[in-house]
Amino acid sequence: MFKAIVIEKDEAGYRATLKTVEETQLPEGNVSVRVSHSTLNYKDGLAITGRGPVVRKFPMVPGVDMAGIVEASSHPDYRPGDAVMLNGWGVGETHWGGLAQKIRLNGDWLVPLPAGFTPRQAMAIGTAGYTAMLCVQALERHDVTPDKGEIVVTGAAGGVGGMAVALLSSLGFTVVAVSGRPEEADYLRQLGAVDILDRSVFAAPGKPLGRERWAGAVDVVGSHTLANVCATTRYRGVVAACGLAGGMDFPATVAPFILRGITLVGIDSVMCPREDRMAAWQRLEQDLDMTRLELLTQEIGLAEAIPMASQLLDGHVRGRLIVDVNA
Ligand code: NDP
Repeated sequence: MFKAIVIEKDEAGYRATLKTVEETQLPEGNVSVRVSHSTLNYKDGLAITGRGPVVRKFPMVPGVDMAGIVEASSHPDYRPGDAVMLNGWGVGETHWGGLAQKIRLNGDWLVPLPAGFTPRQAMAIGTAGYTAMLCVQALERHDVTPDKGEIVVTGAAGGVGGMAVALLSSLGFTVVAVSGRPEEADYLRQLGAVDILDRSVFAAPGKPLGRERWAGAVDVVGSHTLANVCATTRYRGVVAACGLAGGMDFPATVAPFILRGITLVGIDSVMCPREDRMAAWQRLEQDLDMTRLELLTQEIGLAEAIPMASQLLDGHVRGRLIVDVNA
């Protein structure tokens, strides 16, 4: 028997509850893992609250991330005792996820726990940090270097945004954070932001082109914010788009693309090929300032993940939430 958050949908409605589950109920898979830590990402918030159509099968255990120790394996790459980690691949959406003390899954989805991180640190980073690194790498691939100018990061007091601010500033970029939480200005400066702009500056419908400011951008918000970021990106600048916290629409014009030659790069962490995710985690080991990671992180127990899900979606959680599934 093990504890898990279980999402059910039936005549009684949509609900997430902490339950004790029999191991025989675990789905098919060639690796079984004893989970130590998971996290709460925006997508997990949508799954737990039912505010977005994330869960595709019921009952479902949410949790797109987990770190733990292999208990049993018929996969050639893993043996009992190995420390492993998971991000994405539809886990927590179509396959039982990491907000549980046990998980059974396809070993191809796992990666060995990076040597430089404890399971807790790996989950402090989680999908949010790995996605932020994919954004940083996209900027680098398109020749955005610190000497080119300022980088704007939206949703900066959240998980992906905070990780992006910390990573970019450690790499020598001049980072401007956009946030709706003025009370987090000191925190954002501690993460490395040199300036903070109120998110209302970007939230309303804007002009097709504005004053050129950004050499690069990491956007987690979408909608008018993404359109306004593109409209104020400098000639040949690069925007990495990874989120929809402000909306899934993209009410923009082609002007920034055809008149300023800007590049919009889409970032997906879920189905990202294995080599790319290994490379991103290697860079995280190399470039992430662990003091800033601690600053970004709070820890909660498994039961608390349920009420915290709506807090997260309502923008009341700062940085990253680690879930100790045994607490
Ligand atoms: P968080 O909830 O931790 O952060 C989101 C932040 O966005 C909030 O903290 C807030 O920042 C800002 N925000 C929230 N609502 C609005 C709004 N209505 N308008 C403007 N800003 C808003 O979530 P995550 O960091 O985990 O995820 C951020 C986004 O990235 C989500 O949409 C998520 O789905 C997406 N994502 C995508 C991935 C991919 O593979 N493409 C992977 C991981 C996440 P502040 O308070 O500073 O204003």
